[in-house]
Amino acid sequence: MTAFAINPPETPSIAIEGDKKRFPVRRIFCVGRNYAAHAREMGADPDREPPFIFMKPADAVCDDGGTIPYPPLTNDLHHEIELVIALSKGGSNISEEEALGHVWGYGVGLDMTRRDLQAEAKKKGRPWDWGKGFDHSAICAALRPIVDNGHPESGRIWLNVNDVHRQEGDLGDQIWKPAEIIAFCSRSVRLEPGDLIMTGTPEGVGAVVEGDRLVGGIDGIGEINVTIGNQQA
Ligand code: MN
Repeated sequence: MTAFAINPPETPSIAIEGDKKRFPVRRIFCVGRNYAAHAREMGADPDREPPFIFMKPADAVCDDGGTIPYPPLTNDLHHEIELVIALSKGGSNISEEEALGHVWGYGVGLDMTRRDLQAEAKKKGRPWDWGKGFDHSAICAALRPIVDNGHPESGRIWLNVNDVHRQEGDLGDQIWKPAEIIAFCSRSVRLEPGDLIMTGTPEGVGAVVEGDRLVGGIDGIGEINVTIGNQQA
């Protein structure tokens, strides 16, 4: 046993549908601009620039079903509804053919974004971390293991805010499919069990304010709901 100078931090985790056990989270990879219509609404040309990867810290994850605080430093907190992939098996240079064999299950997630900080970072050529990697920025509904449902190839993905329809798309419109994303990431780093991948958001992203109630879902995968609380001190 390794002796630590302070108590080691708890392992971040998310709930599993119908199970008391939780899924331990090692890292969170995120795909940027993986739906053409969303790439265009962000001012990019999906025909000229492929999707790309950024990250959030593992302890940005939190369960859905409750209230998350409105984060500090922003006046433009955006929702991004996304399919989440949870890996049970690691590896380097995973082929696209083998990639789905590394998947433990799938879930519905919200990649919460401090859009004003992200926009400033883009303008100044700085990293996106402060816009993307804050506390409670990776909200995940309970994961579902693939034993029941297989691997989704299509399915409606949507989000309502206060019962008003905001985001709408289909998993079939993803530019990079889950197998391609896993293969791509594994060529850059060795993937490990517990890694999550948030696979990008369809069009219709927008701001939320204190008191807003977000409800979204992906056909065949599940639903997510969360309320935005007061701004953190
Ligand atoms: Mn996103």
